Formats: sequence, structure tokens, C-alpha cells
Amino acid sequence: MNPWKQLLDVQALDTSLTQLDHRERQLPERAELAEVEDQLAALRTEVAAVEGEKHVLDKEQTRIEDEIASIEDKISSADRQLYSGSSDVKELQALQDEIAALKRRISGLEDQELELMEQVEPIDARLAGLAERQAELDQRAVTLTAGIAEAEADIDREREEVRGRRAEVVADIDPSALEEYETVRGRLGGVAVARLEHGSCGACHMKLSAVEHDRILHLGPEEPVRCEDCGRFLVRD
Ligand SMILES: [Zn+2]
Repeated sequence: MNPWKQLLDVQALDTSLTQLDHRERQLPERAELAEVEDQLAALRTEVAAVEGEKHVLDKEQTRIEDEIASIEDKISSADRQLYSGSSDVKELQALQDEIAALKRRISGLEDQELELMEQVEPIDARLAGLAERQAELDQRAVTLTAGIAEAEADIDREREEVRGRRAEVVADIDPSALEEYETVRGRLGGVAVARLEHGSCGACHMKLSAVEHDRILHLGPEEPVRCEDCGRFLVRD
């Protein structure tokens, strides 16, 4: 058997393997997943910023509520004094004035709290929108990841099949020819063997000199012949 002709078959299978590797790296789902992950990262940054705004308002609200609670305590204690049975009119009047002043402060604080709550409302709506968008993107990422795994499994199956066929072909090939094939293939972009077509190299398309062409035609088909120009092995029919 002419090993160079067999190596053309090996080369076709090796090219398939290279294409499968390329297909695996370039799966469209992979690029889309990277984009979704970028969007998710940007979204998380935005959520953190909006939550920061909300946190400031929440803290302010808590401060106001604490202040209201402490004023209510003061009102209760003034109330107790007011109804403790004292008959000092001046003292009673002072207590009533104090209670009225404290109530006015509470009313002012409650207005402030309402204003804050109005500011929190659109922030909450924004956070809800962001959470919804995040859930969509998370779902998309899950779908894409599953799609990638499925495509990878398909490619693995194809690869195993090609490797099996390659092993069968290679088993019959002279090991030294195979070794030369591997060396040249590694050096010349994956193509080590080409057909001699009408006196030209099927890979680099250089026309052989008449002398070289004549010499080749007189050699046995198993004799290794290389293109004078690119150095690939030439297969003659
Ligand atoms: Zn050539």
C-alpha cells in the first residue's frame, strides 16, 4: 500500500479533528454567555449602587423613628406628671406647653419620614426592575450553559468517531512515513500531504519543473516525493 495516499486520508481526518476543536472553541453560545455574564456583572454593580442609596435613606428613617420614640417617652412621662395630682397651676401649664411642643416636633418628624418614604418608593421600584432583569439573565445563562454542554457532548462524540477511524487507517501505515507526516504537518499549518495535480502541488499550487515532474513520474508511487516549493509530500495516482 502507498503510505502517502493513506496519509491523505489521515490528513482529512486530522483536519476534521482540528475543525471540531475550532467549532468547540467558537460555539456561538459561548460568546453569548460571555456577553450575558458581562451584563450580569454590570447589573450587580448597579444594584449595589442603588442599594447604597436606599441604605442611606433607611438609616435616616430609622434615626427619625428612634427620635419619635424617644419624644413619645418624654410625652408619656410629662403626661404622668400632669395627672399625678399636682395642683400647682404654673407647673401644670408648663407641662402642657412642653407636651404641645413635643407633639409639634413629632408631627414635623413624621412629615420628614413621609418625605423619605416617598424617596424610597422609586428606588424600590428600580431595585425590583433590576432584580427582574437579573433573573432573566440568570435564566439565559443557565440555558446557554446547558446548550454549551450539549454541543460539547456532540462534538466529543464526533471526535471519538473520527479518532476511531484514524486509528484504523494509521494501523496500516509505515511508522516512519507517519512520523514524517506528523513532523511536516506540525511545521506546515496542518497540511503535510498534497496531490500532484497536472504537474502542480495541490497545496501551494506551484508548478513543478519539467525535469522534476519527469523524475517523479519515473519513481515508484511509494517513494516519498516532496514539493520543491512548500516541502509537502506529493501523492501521485
Ligand atoms: Zn507545494
